[in-house]
Order: sequence, then structure tokens, then C-alpha cells
Amino acid sequence: MIKGVSLGVLGWSVLALVASGAHAQPQSRLALVGGMLLDGYGGAPIHHAAVLIENNRIVAAGPASEIVLPEGIPVIDTSGETMMPGMIDVHAHLVLVGHGDIERWFSWLDAHPSQFPIQRVMELSARQLLAAGITSAADLGAPLQESIAVRDRINRGIVPGPRLSISGPWLIPAPAIFPTKYQVIVRTAPEAARATEDAIRGGTDVIKLHGGLTPDQYAAIVEVAHKHHIKVHTHLYDEEDVRNAFAAGVDVLQHVGSAGTPPYSAALVKDIAESGRQIVPTAAHRVWVLPATREFPERLDEPFLRRQFPSAMWTELSESFRDISKLSYFNKHEQEEANGDGSINQWVKSGAVIGMGSDSGSPLNFHADALWREAKVFVDHGMPAAKVIAALNVRERAHPRPGPRLGYDRSRQACRHCSREGRSTI
Ligand SMILES: [Zn+2]
Repeated sequence: MIKGVSLGVLGWSVLALVASGAHAQPQSRLALVGGMLLDGYGGAPIHHAAVLIENNRIVAAGPASEIVLPEGIPVIDTSGETMMPGMIDVHAHLVLVGHGDIERWFSWLDAHPSQFPIQRVMELSARQLLAAGITSAADLGAPLQESIAVRDRINRGIVPGPRLSISGPWLIPAPAIFPTKYQVIVRTAPEAARATEDAIRGGTDVIKLHGGLTPDQYAAIVEVAHKHHIKVHTHLYDEEDVRNAFAAGVDVLQHVGSAGTPPYSAALVKDIAESGRQIVPTAAHRVWVLPATREFPERLDEPFLRRQFPSAMWTELSESFRDISKLSYFNKHEQEEANGDGSINQWVKSGAVIGMGSDSGSPLNFHADALWREAKVFVDHGMPAAKVIAALNVRERAHPRPGPRLGYDRSRQACRHCSREGRSTI
């Protein structure tokens, strides 16, 4: 299992209740009593704790001796278990399910449009994420209408799943591996600004960029997004690209621990760490999933996992796992493995704000365990488990709205959060 990260089943009970808050029965109350409670902020564990839930919201938590429980309410005994908040995956792909070959996966879906429309796939993924203890996720790259439908159906309690921040299609300078309707090509700064405006007006919660844009394109996108209090996530690998995105005010730097390159310069890491800008390394899906699967191929035929898929889909997945040494997704694995430790260590030691993102759904990287694997990589690289659990509770929030208690500094007419002084972007 996951070294140093204890994920009690009872924790999931709490999470499921919180996630279905929209459908609360009036006056419903429940208490979980007896287990160890982790608060998700990195504080010391509370032993023999109690959690009081009213109308599917946690209203009190602490030592059982201090929490007053209303008389006669149902109590679940959590003795011997761990209770912790729902986890947040800041990088998920609900259109993918861990199939070995992304291109072949989309062709297979195209061949089964009525049996497996994309919305059904996304809802299947959402259910798997919730079952893994994830109560909030950023879904970064999917067709817009389906993304909105899945997000809203979860919010209304029609289907189970984590609360989603959706990006819809990502903005990208040239087509990448995903189908056309998953991406919007932008070639100039005005085009980039327009695409950002359209995405936001269309109903996205965050903007996802695929990287490789020019500094003026990044700046144009960030300006529009921040005007709407929307955060910008960017898929980044090369140092220069990271620097450009960072300088333009991109809010969440995704994949910067994915080991596609050697570690970054100390100056860049320091600047990012000092800025307080969020990084999401997405470490495990490139470097650690493949060797873990080689060492323990049984994970690809795990009955609990298999049961989470319709049988026709599972048959196709199994076919794609037939020879994992030939999966093109891992073509550069040797190089990534060589960069792996340095890629994580640079961030663990930097003091940067780290969010946990799994890139779940990518080859061999199932929603059912992707974020656990991501967390394990950090524990294995010396990050204390309590800190890792705290990082599992770092999410992207809407860009702060003007106000004295948020990120906006009225005296400077600037935003403390994105460090953009004197701009009209707030
Ligand atoms: Zn991704």
C-alpha cells in the first residue's frame, strides 16, 4: 500500500457525505467517533476524535471528549481507523481511463459512440475518483458541453463524483494528441485573448493551456482570465516555457516535476517558490507508474479495479496492456527515470506551494489509485506524510475578487495574489 499515507475507509464515508451535500435531507445528522483525525492542514493528528455532520456538512471536529453530540443521532464507530478530508486532484482527465494507448482509446470510443459516449466515460471516471477518496478535481482538457453536463450533474447529486473545476478544451499553439474538439488552436495574442473570453463565457471554471505559447500570448490569456477572476493552468516542461508562463502570471504550473527535462535552474525554482504560485509536479504518471507495473503486473488485473469498468471496456483496456514495454507513452522513459528524483527533490526542498495532481486517466494511471501513487512519490522523497496530506488539500481557487481580505491590495490597485502591479486586470 502507500507508505506513510493512511487512507481509512471511514475517511471515505465522510467524503462521500460531504460531496453529496447538494442533496442533503433537512436535519440529517451523523457522527463519526473514535478514530484518528487528520485535519488536512498538516496539524498533529487528533486521537480518539469525533466528527459531527449536519445536513451533509461537517459542523464540528475535534477530540471526542470536547465535541458535544446531539442526543440520539446515528454514530459510526471509527475506532482503529483514520479520518481525513477529501483529497483534491488538481490534474485529472476524465475522458481517459488508464488505457495503454491514448490514440487507440479515442479510436475505440469513436467506434462505440452509442455505447460509450464521452459523457458516460467522464461519469465513469468521476465515480472512480470519488471511490478513491477524491472529493474535488480539476478536469483539464475535455469537450466543453460534456464537461459542463458532468460537472453540473455531480453538483445536483444525479451522479456520484468529486466537485469539478472544468477547463473544457485547452488552448494550444498546434494540435496535440487529443481529438480536435478537445483543443482550441491559438496563433496570435488577440486570438488567444478571444479564445479565453469565449471559454469563460462558455462556462469553464479554469483555463488550461498546453504550453509552447509566446510570452505575449500567455500575457493576453492571463489578462482576460484574471479580469474574470479565473485561474490559468499550463502544461509546461521546458525551462524557457516555464519562465515565460510564470513571468506572464500563469497561476498553476502543471507538470513541472514530470521529469521530461533535467531539473530547472536554481534561480527559476527560487523565483517560483518565493512567488507562492502553485506548482503541480504530476510526478508519478511518467516516472513511477511504469516500473511499478513491471514489478507488479497483477495490478492490471485487480478484481476491484476490473469491477469498476463495463466488461466491453475492460476487455479493450486489457488488450492495450498486453505488452507494456511497447507503449509509446513511455518512449522516453529511460530519460524520465534518470531525471525523476532530481525533478521532485528540487520542489520538495524549495518551499514552493505544491498541489497534488495525478494526470489520472493517462496510460496505466487509473483514477482508482493515481493520486495515491502521486502522494507516495512525495513521501518517498522525504516530504513528511502530514505535509503531503496537507498538499492533497491545496486546490486552485477562483482568482481573488477585489476585497480587503483577499488578494487585492486597494492602495496599490494591484493583486497580491498574482503579483501584477498597476494592471487593469483585476
Ligand atoms: Zn494532463
